Amino acid sequence: MKSVFKILFFIPRLIFSLIWSLFRTVIILVIITLLFFYFTSSSKADFGAAISEQIHKISTTFFSSDFNLRDTMSKLSTDNYEHEQGSRWDKNKATIYIASSDETFIKAYRTAIANWNATGSFTFNIVSNKAGANIIATDYSDAKTQAAGLAESETNAATNRISHVDVKLNRYYLLNENYGYSFDRIVHTAEHELGHAIGLNHDDSETSVMASSGSYYGIQDTDVAAVKKLYAK
Ligand SMILES: [Zn+2]
Repeated sequence: MKSVFKILFFIPRLIFSLIWSLFRTVIILVIITLLFFYFTSSSKADFGAAISEQIHKISTTFFSSDFNLRDTMSKLSTDNYEHEQGSRWDKNKATIYIASSDETFIKAYRTAIANWNATGSFTFNIVSNKAGANIIATDYSDAKTQAAGLAESETNAATNRISHVDVKLNRYYLLNENYGYSFDRIVHTAEHELGHAIGLNHDDSETSVMASSGSYYGIQDTDVAAVKKLYAK
C-alpha cells in the first residue's frame, strides 16, 4: 500500500520540483541582472533608464522569438513591437543611416523615408556617418521569428524620449520568392518600421501602415494624424 502511494505522489512531486527549480533560476538571474546594472550605472537615473531598456529588449526578444511556430505564412506579422505609450523623439525629426547593403532594401528604405517626409509630419535626414545617426536602418535574416521586420528602440525612462532606434528588415521573408512580397509591400514594411522609429504603436482598428500584419497598406491620413498628435506638444 505504501509503495502505491509513493508512486502516486512521485509524478506530481517531480513536476512541482521542476517548476520550483525553474522559478528559482529565473529569480536568481533577475537579481544578478539588477545587481549588474546597479553597479555599472553611474547614477540612480541611469540605473532606471538601463532597467527600462533591458525590459524593453527582453520583451521584444521574447515576443519575437520562436514562440509562434504554429502560425502559418498567412499569419506572418510585420513584427511584434511594443513600447512605452507616448515615447517619441524630442522634436519631429531624426537622422537616419542606411546600413543595409541590399539594393532592394536600400531602394525600399529611401522610398519609405521620402514618403514619410512628404507627409510633413516627421522628417528623416539621411546621413552618411553611422556613428552619430539617431536611427540605423539595416537588415537581418531570421527564419525562427514570424516577423518581417523589427524596430528596437532605446527610450530614456525618465523623460520618455527615444534616444536610438535600430530598424531591420528580415531578408528571410522579404527577399524570398516563396513568400511573394512585392516591392510595394517591402516599402510598406519599411514605412511600418520607420513608424515605430517615430514612436507609433500598432493600429489594427482602421486602415493603417501600422497594421500589425500583412503590410498591404502604405502611410494613411490616419497615420499622419497620429504622428501630428504625438508631436503636438
Ligand atoms: Zn510593428
